Amino acid sequence: MKITSCTAMILRTPVSRPFTSARGWWYKTKNAMLVHIETDEGIDGWGEAYGPAECTKQVVDSLLAPLLVNQDPLDTNVLWEKMYQRIEDYAPQGFGVAAISAIDIALWDIKGKFFGLPVYKLLGGAHRLSLTPYATGLYFTEEDGDFITPAVSEAIKYKEMGFKGIKMKIALNRKEELERVKAVREAIGPDIELMVDANHGYSLYDAIWLSKKFEDLEISWFEEPISPHDLKGYADLRTKTSIPLAGGENNFTRYAFKDILDERAMDIIQPDLCCAGGITEVMRIASMAEVAGITCMMHVWGSAVGLFAALNVMAALPPSPHSWKPAPVWMEYEQTESPFREKLVTEPIRRENGEVYVPQSPGLGFTINMDIVEKYRVK
Ligand code: CA
Repeated sequence: MKITSCTAMILRTPVSRPFTSARGWWYKTKNAMLVHIETDEGIDGWGEAYGPAECTKQVVDSLLAPLLVNQDPLDTNVLWEKMYQRIEDYAPQGFGVAAISAIDIALWDIKGKFFGLPVYKLLGGAHRLSLTPYATGLYFTEEDGDFITPAVSEAIKYKEMGFKGIKMKIALNRKEELERVKAVREAIGPDIELMVDANHGYSLYDAIWLSKKFEDLEISWFEEPISPHDLKGYADLRTKTSIPLAGGENNFTRYAFKDILDERAMDIIQPDLCCAGGITEVMRIASMAEVAGITCMMHVWGSAVGLFAALNVMAALPPSPHSWKPAPVWMEYEQTESPFREKLVTEPIRRENGEVYVPQSPGLGFTINMDIVEKYRVK
């Protein structure tokens, strides 16, 4: 089998209420950068990159797609190294690796379809056939005003939708933010797990102050409290709080995750399949985390393509630690408005009784809805 084409495309749609995290850039549109790979045997595959779509598309178009034509799509390790060698000198973190990720995911989709098996089977089989989704939301939708009332009503909505966990964005100054988190915890009660995500918006001293206060609020983890580059700061914070620290969505490849694990900087690493290096690389990262005794959960923030890829990979990760009654394996399920999460595929992910189910069709497990692709594709 030979690759005949590798096409990068951007899907884009405006959102009705722009929103922001602690990063302070306002999301006015939802975007998906998809890669479509076709072969001479009529089998095709889809992948996705996370991050600024024009930039990742440019890397695919100019550097990576020319390497792929006439190659065997089943050679996922070989092609990963070829692509990485092409970008290593210029973009070993960021856009370059995100572009590789999209291609690698599409190659795995092809590989699964070629063998007639779900990708998780090719990864060695499923340790679980369902995962526990948590809702990511509670972004900021106004420049200023009352931040508590909308956060509380959104959290209650997720509880009523059956989510067992909610991850809220935090960004205000520490005292205001503490009041906001307290209000959400009171509104949802003690039985729903609550995580907080600062998108590295705090100083180390504010993160220490907040993490100590969060201990009384049963916060399940504190995500990206400080800069992803300050691993010593994470290690320091980790000794000062009992709240688990999470991060990794802004770190790329096994090389960056080696540093996190060596520093013992986080309790939970969160590589994103669509930017940390795709399925090939994230399986390696997960294995390194298991050796280090650190939990690995995917960061997921994209379209159905990334979601289906994450379900396949998370099904295949071994329980760590092995336990008679293991903790839930959480699956990030972000909830900002997007036609790309459910409508981009002909059959959306099955979510029932607070669980999401691992797809069983060959490849990543979806059929792309080409009407949605054509409707939203940036011409
Ligand atoms: Ca995050």
